Amino acid sequence: MVNKYKVRAYCSSRLCDYVQHDDVIQAINGETSYALALHYNESPAKPSCPKCGEAMSFYSHSVIDEPWLP
Ligand SMILES: [Zn+2]
Repeated sequence: MVNKYKVRAYCSSRLCDYVQHDDVIQAINGETSYALALHYNESPAKPSCPKCGEAMSFYSHSVIDEPWLP
């Protein structure tokens, strides 16, 4: 079983449900992905939501690779 740790972006506006489908970055472990998400959230040059224009927020998440899938 292999865990993958990734950072994803979503819209920070409560009125908008936009979530970026592509991962922002893939990290080597949970601590790194958490630190990267924090780093992106503190960045002054955050990308804006393509749907409503609000700033994007970042969060870390992990994915468990299913070994029986290609
Ligand atoms: Zn939005």
